[in-house]
Amino acid sequence: MISDIHGNLAALEAVLAAIDAAKPDALWCLGDVVGYGARPNECCEAVRRRASICLAGNHDLAVRGTLDLIDFSGDAGLAATWTRGVLDDSARAFLDSLDTHATTEGAELYHASARDPVWEYVLSDEAAVITLMLTEAPVVLVGHSHVALNVSLRGGDVEGGLAPDGTTLGLGERRWLINPGSVGQPRDGDPRAAWLELDQDAGTAVFHRVEYDIARTQSEIVAAGLPHALAQRLAHGL
Ligand code: ZN
Repeated sequence: MISDIHGNLAALEAVLAAIDAAKPDALWCLGDVVGYGARPNECCEAVRRRASICLAGNHDLAVRGTLDLIDFSGDAGLAATWTRGVLDDSARAFLDSLDTHATTEGAELYHASARDPVWEYVLSDEAAVITLMLTEAPVVLVGHSHVALNVSLRGGDVEGGLAPDGTTLGLGERRWLINPGSVGQPRDGDPRAAWLELDQDAGTAVFHRVEYDIARTQSEIVAAGLPHALAQRLAHGL
């Protein structure tokens, strides 16, 4: 399970190598394959070849023209405009084929939330509870915030929070809302690329982080003429 790659090919390659070693049955992606980073075509190609489910995120929708760029501020808007200009036909066709949510065996997937699959950041108890109430699957997966999270309800109480590297959940007894974190632009203070290992047979979910060549991605962003801030933030995971 991966999310929010954002054109960061070095991070995606590192995560795919770790996923290959774990030999999962399938790869799911929660969207935002492009936007911010300088390698959108290569990221689309890798995800298109590997993922059995891939959602569209707000950046994917902007780049393909479904969302107006007026909704994107500052560096996000500049990067979306740049990405539109360099996207090749194959990547465009791939982005055009994506939807913002999906349901599969035992899980519901949204780029952002069940209430608003495109834009809502699930970063509060209130937002997490609403998405759990609007869904029925044992596991609900969201991306968009770039923060690895796990949230569950026990009685009327909300439990969970940030999910650092190595966090392991037992599935089955309760329903879980999970954000795997971001591959290409983490914002939870850990600059390493994030992915989630979901084992529905064993009933576990494990949050993983992997080192990648941040300097390579930073130099690609600068060489592309994208805002330097998009390169600098990667070193801090913010
Ligand atoms: Zn994103």
